[in-house]
Amino acid sequence: MTKQMPVLFVGHGSPMNAIENNSYSAYWETLGGELPRPEAILSVSAHWYTPGLRITDAPNPKMVYDMYGFPDELYQVDYNASGSPHYAGMVKDIIGEKLRIDNSWGLDHGSWSVLCRMYPDADIPVFQLSVDSTASAEECYETGQKLRALRDQGVLILGSGNVVHNLARVNWTMEDKGYPWAKEFDEYIKSSILTHNIKNVIDYEKAGASSALAFQMMDHFAPLLYILGASNETDRIQVFNDSCTLGALSMTSYLFEPAL
Ligand code: ZN
Repeated sequence: MTKQMPVLFVGHGSPMNAIENNSYSAYWETLGGELPRPEAILSVSAHWYTPGLRITDAPNPKMVYDMYGFPDELYQVDYNASGSPHYAGMVKDIIGEKLRIDNSWGLDHGSWSVLCRMYPDADIPVFQLSVDSTASAEECYETGQKLRALRDQGVLILGSGNVVHNLARVNWTMEDKGYPWAKEFDEYIKSSILTHNIKNVIDYEKAGASSALAFQMMDHFAPLLYILGASNETDRIQVFNDSCTLGALSMTSYLFEPAL
């Protein structure tokens, strides 16, 4: 019997974390070594934000360099993982008609910037699920609940986004620091998760004024909702990379592991 897999939400932040050695990327490397080895990885990436749910099922997904104005070195990263038609088919069966197969996309930097540090050998199949731009927070959570069954099949579900993500307010002089509203919203989400108050995460506006500044679109926040849906109340929760950076980003990340 396969042991149930953990689920993981990673705050990915700047694409440069793929190639920079810093505390964030160092922890991604640690995680890759410590987690039970998955059969495949389903990545729900903030950077595939589509009207309606889509999934990739190509045997060899292409690289998507969906970031602009970064050093050449970043565009040289080639994460050559295979895809997983098998597990993508399983997700299609679980979610049904409203999920569209779409191989016009592949692996974007929400996936590869993290995975190239977690699993540098790229020897685990990876497939992506989009973030549905038409779904409410509640509906994103419900989709995550459906994905929970994959944990029993050896699939690691990775949500890649950021709890706080307001690019209009990013301040490049504020490395490893967050504005008070960013820290406030990040703390609100963290305390809600740690007290199993998922409703307060779904109803994130309850955080007050900070929620209006935390993000303008749900793209980076929604992957957390998918992951919460796939988590179990009995999971042990580990918080890591617990910090804000560049004023208006939160790197705070969550690992949900089956209870011993
Ligand atoms: Zn991003």
